[in-house]
Amino acid sequence: LMRAESVHKSYGTVEVLKGISLEVRAGEVTCLVGPSGSGKSTFLRCINHLEKINAGRIYVGDELIGYREHRGRLHELREKEVLKQRAGIGMVFQDFNLFPHKTALENVIEAVVLVRRKKKETAINEAQALLRRVGLADKFGAYPAQLSGGQQQRVAIARALAMEPQLMLFDEPTSALDPELVGEVLDVMKQLAASGITMIVVTHEIGFAREVGDKLVFMDDGVIVEAGDPREIIADPQQDRTRAFLSQVL
Ligand code: ATP
Ligand code: MG
Repeated sequence: LMRAESVHKSYGTVEVLKGISLEVRAGEVTCLVGPSGSGKSTFLRCINHLEKINAGRIYVGDELIGYREHRGRLHELREKEVLKQRAGIGMVFQDFNLFPHKTALENVIEAVVLVRRKKKETAINEAQALLRRVGLADKFGAYPAQLSGGQQQRVAIARALAMEPQLMLFDEPTSALDPELVGEVLDVMKQLAASGITMIVVTHEIGFAREVGDKLVFMDDGVIVEAGDPREIIADPQQDRTRAFLSQVL
């Protein structure tokens, strides 16, 4: 469902992604771990073309992200076409990014009505179902400031799901939460994984990776150092850098 081929990304003269190749099958949960600055967020942002890559290719479904290929050459897509591609990729950030002046329900329906052009009534019905699904049946009318961090993050997840994305990207979705609120968000993510949604999750929650992940990818310094079955890698990392990292987070 997602295929990255030799993705390179630089900021100025600093190369942050040095040839990332990764395949994610439909329904799989891929957990991306690695030290700070290794390029995890940058890679996620390249997948939905929030960042332009300097070389390589990224496919989501049948679509080449950000470009159109014509006679072997790549041409940049227009903004409108990029937005269309991006609408099929849900993203959940560390800091929730909800609209502060909108209720939980309004946050969830906003893009659905504007981008998907669904009827408001349909969007509201679906948003209510999604908010129930993430455990917020009693919070439809609450504003972000009236919600805990864990509740806000669950609204953000419902908002991303409302777009019916083929792929969900999570960038450290629990890092900004108080420890006692981490579990409720991970539980929702587990439930999504079980329902067959394809997910790429940047996380430091090794327990989640072990329990829910189909694949663990360890990144360091812009490259994939090691990738494979989470349980095998956690139990017996093959690379020194992976072992050193895991010994710090476990
Ligand atoms: P963390 O675990 O701290 O979130 P990360 O693995 O997500 O780290 P990135 O945020 O992808 O790392 O950053 C990788 C490198 O790219 C870092 O050295 C960072 O300083 C640099 N970088 C990221 N965004 C930009 C930018 N917009 N302009 C310049 N440099 C950037
Ligand atoms: Mg990051």
